[in-house]
Parts: sequence; structure tokens; C-alpha cells
Amino acid sequence: MSPGAGRILVLDLETELPAAGLEALQQQLGAAGLAGRLVEAGWCRLLRVPLPAGSPEPAPSAWRLAGVRRAFVQEDGSLLAARSWREADSVIAARGHRLGGGAWQLIAGPCSVEDRVQMREVAHAAAEAGAGWLRGGAFKPRSSPYHFQGLGAPALELLREAADERGLAVITELLDLRDLPLLAACSDVLQVGSRNSQNLPLLKELGRCGRPVLLKRGFGCTLEETVLAAEYVLCHGNPQVAICERGIRSFEPAMRFTFDLGALPWLKQHVHLPVVADPSHATGDARLVPAVARGALAAGADGIMVEIHPRPDRSISDPDQALSLEAFGRLAAELRALAAALGRSGGEGSA
Ligand code: PEP
Ligand code: MN
Repeated sequence: MSPGAGRILVLDLETELPAAGLEALQQQLGAAGLAGRLVEAGWCRLLRVPLPAGSPEPAPSAWRLAGVRRAFVQEDGSLLAARSWREADSVIAARGHRLGGGAWQLIAGPCSVEDRVQMREVAHAAAEAGAGWLRGGAFKPRSSPYHFQGLGAPALELLREAADERGLAVITELLDLRDLPLLAACSDVLQVGSRNSQNLPLLKELGRCGRPVLLKRGFGCTLEETVLAAEYVLCHGNPQVAICERGIRSFEPAMRFTFDLGALPWLKQHVHLPVVADPSHATGDARLVPAVARGALAAGADGIMVEIHPRPDRSISDPDQALSLEAFGRLAAELRALAAALGRSGGEGSA
């Protein structure tokens, strides 16, 4: 690659920098033959300056001018998600239950919210096992339009009620942007499903929603595409984003998807966002979930998300991959022991 090709000069601006200061900076860039594009993310503000191919590499220190907090050069790609933007791990907190920053978090619940009794049993088991986040689908992205699509709004109330009884945070999928006000009222963390992973209008709006977002990797998306999808949320105003590896489609039909274990350390190396593993959708098989969950924790996942059900064989959606509450209790104990052996502080999982 020729010098400068695909490289970006980043000027991290003071958020208070007045328009005149910004104008002065743009003029200095212009005098150097450069043009900066202002990124107003709200929680941060920056000028993103593409470096012309073949141009000599500028000394970032030369751009530490008035109103510039930091200047650095990076490869084109994700910016706000990158470790070069933030060295330390980001942490997301929902109702005091943290995800990221070294400690691990357990996220559990059924594929779909079905009824009050189911949700109460599940929330009890989740809390007993040390989970901090309760999951459950209200609006389901089913492959077949003839299969159960979720209870909708009533499910959100059941989810909230069960979580509140046990002091858990609620995470649920936002399938359709029109449901955002409804979900924002009842849930703490908004999940973007694998099928919506590159729904750009949805990602932009989630940038403005003020809620933490768990972005699932599209099953046909590369890691770079996944990180850029997270970047959409970050640069539209929301610094609270986590990425979830949930399996990708490969030539292998033995399991529902192929769990990409290497994605976890790759993501931890390249981005500062919390990384979650979902062994349930990856394998589609409850018998395989514990081993993949253990592998994911060992590979550096910040969170493990599993589907559980009081009576898995009667689960309306994804019955084959749901762990019984007893099996889930055993898995949680194994993960705690593993975290201790790995020297990882165990979040609530070790409480
Ligand atoms: C889910 O977690 O409920 C789900 C539908 O998963 P995915 O989007 O990964 O298929
Ligand atoms: Mn499911």
C-alpha cells in the first residue's frame, strides 16, 4: 500500500470547541491540502481526515492544536469502536448489572416470552444462578412467517414484571423500529438480532435511543462488517454498545450455525466494546451449549447468553437448544469454577 492510502488522521475535539475554533482547524487542514469531516456523536466530537494516497504520513503531534484533545493516525475502518480510540475495555451497566471491563456477566432467559408462570420460573432460576440480565423475545424474527411471532407488547410486561421481582435487567430484541417506544418503556438493553445486524436505519436510531445496545453478529457478516455496524450506533450518539457472536453460516450442516470461537479474542483485540457469546443459537443443540459456553468464557467473552426454559420440550420456539433450569444451574456453577481458574473476576456470576 502506498503511504497514506486508506489511512485516516483523527482529531479528537474538545466538545466545547466553539464554531470559530472549528473553522480555524478546518482552515489549517485545508492549507495542508486536507479536508476533515466533522463527526458529532454527542458523547464525543471529532474530525475524520482521510489522508490522500501517497501523501507523507503527518506527525500527529503537529495537529495537537487548540481545541484538539488528541490526534492520531489509524487505518480506515471502525473508529469509535477501535482500541486505538479507547484502550480500556468499555463497560455497560443495566440496573447495576455490568457487562465488560474484566468481570463476566451471565444472560439467560427463554427464546420467547410465553406466559407469566414461565417467566417467573425462569427469572428465579436466572437470579439463583447469578445472572444479571434476563432475556426473552417479545417480537420474534422467525424464519417462517407461519411460526409463532411472539406475544408482542404483553410479553414486554411479563418480562419486566419477572425481572423486577428478582432485580434483573431486561434485554429484548428490537425487531422493528416502530416498536422502539414500547421497548424503551419496558426494557433496559435493546438487542439487535442477527437478521437486523446491518439494518442501517435501525442502527442509526439506536444511536439516539439512550439505551445500551447488544448487537448480534449477522450470520453472514464478517467481523469487520459487524464492527462497522456497531460503529453506526456509536457515531450516532450511543457509546453503550456490545457485540454478540452467535454463530455464522458455513458449509457445516451438523449444527445450526458455526460458532466462531476465534471471533472472541479477535474482537477483544480490535475493539474496546464488551463481547458476548451466544452458544444457544450457534449450536441449536442444548447438549452442545455447555461446552461451547465454557470455551467462549475461556476465550475471553465478557458475557455468556443462553436460552433456558422450565420445560424445554414445550418451548414454543427453539426447543432443541433450550437448557432446562437444572442444566442451566449446573452450567452456571461450571462457568464460575472456570472463571476462578482463569483468574477472571466473576461479575455477579461469582456472587
Ligand atoms: C435471539 O437471541 O432471540 C435470536 C433470535 O437470535 P439471533 O438474532 O442471533 O438469531
Ligand atoms: Mn431463540
